[in-house]
Amino acid sequence: MGEAYWDAGLGKAALALAVPIRQADGRYAGALMAKLNLRAAADILQRLAPADSGDVYLINEQGRLILRARSSSADVMRTKLPPVTAQALIDREGATVEYKRADGRDVIGTLRRVPALRWAAVVEMPRAQALRRAGGSGSGVGLTLVLLLAGAGLVAYVGLLMVRPLERLAGVAAKVAAGDLSVEIPSAGRGEVGTLTQVFKSLVARLREREGQGELERLSVTDALTGLYNRRHLMGTLANEVQRSRRLRRTFSVLLADVDHFKQYNDSHGHLGGDAALVKVAEILRKMTRGVDSVARYGGEEFVVMLIEAPIATAAAVGERIRARVAAEEFSGGKMTVSVGAAEYPTHGDTPEELIASADAAMYEAKSGGRDRVVVAGRRADLEKEGKRRRKGEA
Ligand code: GH3
Ligand code: MG
Ligand code: MG
Repeated sequence: MGEAYWDAGLGKAALALAVPIRQADGRYAGALMAKLNLRAAADILQRLAPADSGDVYLINEQGRLILRARSSSADVMRTKLPPVTAQALIDREGATVEYKRADGRDVIGTLRRVPALRWAAVVEMPRAQALRRAGGSGSGVGLTLVLLLAGAGLVAYVGLLMVRPLERLAGVAAKVAAGDLSVEIPSAGRGEVGTLTQVFKSLVARLREREGQGELERLSVTDALTGLYNRRHLMGTLANEVQRSRRLRRTFSVLLADVDHFKQYNDSHGHLGGDAALVKVAEILRKMTRGVDSVARYGGEEFVVMLIEAPIATAAAVGERIRARVAAEEFSGGKMTVSVGAAEYPTHGDTPEELIASADAAMYEAKSGGRDRVVVAGRRADLEKEGKRRRKGEA
């Protein structure tokens, strides 16, 4: 809690509060900060002030005035209780003390600490007036004192009203920082803390939304259109297979199939017609491979098949069966063909990316060779030569 200060812009006494937010492991995650204007507290003070020449005010630990019922201003905040008076009041908290006010008047006052804040509330009344009210009788004096104390007690309660919602909010914020978005955020009514709570609520709602989306994406391993594995899942599977094959000194192969002239097909049969054809190609790929193989939609009209423990000759044969099956199929828009590239681990690449690149290069060779065919990747040395040759050609 910062020191109370006079906010010239607001024309009110204000206070900055910050609550640290820690993660589950105790690490500092940030802080929730609020600037409270003390208007609500000032209103309550005003209502509690004794009707006549009495006064109610809040002081800080140094005896400096924070708020005063009669008037609040920058000047009030520069006023300080004489140290002797402040000490006497603090020492006899809850009991009445007689002292001289700055204006020379004899007063009776009492002090109550404000829980949760390092403040205290003071209620005071001119001595003569207090005695007059008491009417000289012992019970009268007692009643006056009780009234004074009740006032101080209520003022003290103001502190709790201000701080409790903020403490609750900080508790919730700590949970959010620890990753728990299922928190219930308590309502905090109106005022600054209420506004802060609202802002925090919408922040958490947006985090929830985002987390929801991220979660769905993370959980999905399949392509929405074809039901085949998606690219991300394929890359993970390939990485695992590379590790396994390296350890067991085994081989495996990949096929990359790209639909020929698919743009044309789309143009003449519409995007939906194109989609239906892709679903059919996916079905063929699934039928033509074993359950242990992974079939994925790699891109728009590109598919990758990972053939476990299959040398390149087997892969080429499977590729050829797929090619022939697609070419024989009657699509609603007529005929369709695929060009297929095949590559083997580790001959044509020993990482998922290299293997795909080799299969892709072979697939492009199939395209330039006339499409509707299967091409096996060249050895890496040949590929590099080929790459150089092509780059020269382009230059
Ligand atoms: P080729 O591969 O034989 O060289 O010719 P292409 O016409 O297939 O070439 P390209 O790869 O440039 O075009 C692929 C087209 O596939 C472009 C895009 O409009 C279409 N496409 C990509 N994703 C989808 C999809 O999800 N649905 C449909 N209907 N079309 C798609
Ligand atoms: Mg393509
Ligand atoms: Mg294509």
